[in-house]
Amino acid sequence: MKVLVIEDDSGIIEVVSLCFQLRWSGTTVISAANGKKGVELVETESPDVIILDIGLPDIDGYQVLKEIRRFSEVPVIMLTVRGEDTDVAKGLELGADDYITKPFSHIELIARVQAVLRRSQGLSVTDDEKPFIAGKLSVDFARNEVTLDGQAVRLTSTERKLLYHLIRNEGRILSHDSLLAKVWGDTYVDARDLLRVHIQHLRQKLGDNSDSPSIITTEHGIGYKFTRPSN
Ligand code: CA
Repeated sequence: MKVLVIEDDSGIIEVVSLCFQLRWSGTTVISAANGKKGVELVETESPDVIILDIGLPDIDGYQVLKEIRRFSEVPVIMLTVRGEDTDVAKGLELGADDYITKPFSHIELIARVQAVLRRSQGLSVTDDEKPFIAGKLSVDFARNEVTLDGQAVRLTSTERKLLYHLIRNEGRILSHDSLLAKVWGDTYVDARDLLRVHIQHLRQKLGDNSDSPSIITTEHGIGYKFTRPSN
C-alpha cells in the first residue's frame, strides 16, 4: 500500500511514517512539502490514500483537493488543527473522504485510513445487478457509472456507497446511525455532520434541489429517504 502525505511539517511526516512502519507493514509512505508537488505525486505515484494538510506554503489544502479531484477519486483524509478555524465542511464538500485532527494517535490514524480504504474498495455488487433507471437518472453500480440526463456524474467512493444504500432502500427511511454504520463504519455513529455534508453533495450531483429536495429527503430527527425521481 502507498500513502502520500502532503504536509510541510516534517514532524508530522515522521509521525505518519513511523506509525505505518510499526503498525502496517508493507506500506510505503511518500511525502510532499507543498501543494503543487503533492498534486504532481498523485499523478506520478498513484497513491492508495492521501493525507492532506490544509495549511501549506504555496496553495492551500482546499485548492490541492480541487486539483486532485479533477482527475482522481483516491481517498483523501484532511489534516486539521484542533481549535483552529479549519472549515471541515468545505473540505468534505470539495471531495475529502474524512478528516483527522492534529495531534492524533497512531491508533486513530490507522483506523481512519482503514475506514477510507474499506469504503473505496467499493461495493460487493455482482455483475448482473441491474442498473437503477428513473427519470433522467441512471445508476449502474456494477459498472460504476452514473448519468444524469445523459451526462456522466462523477461520484467519490463514499458518495457512491451512500447512494447505493439509499437506492437499495428506496422509499424507506434510513436512520442517521444506520447510514453512518453502513457507509463509514460502526465507530462513526455520532458523525451526523459528516453524513449531512455528503448528502448535500450527493443531492447537488443528482440535480436534487437542496432547499426542498425531492430525491433525497431529510426526515427530521430520524434520517434520510431516497425517492425515485419522476423526471
Ligand atoms: Ca502545515
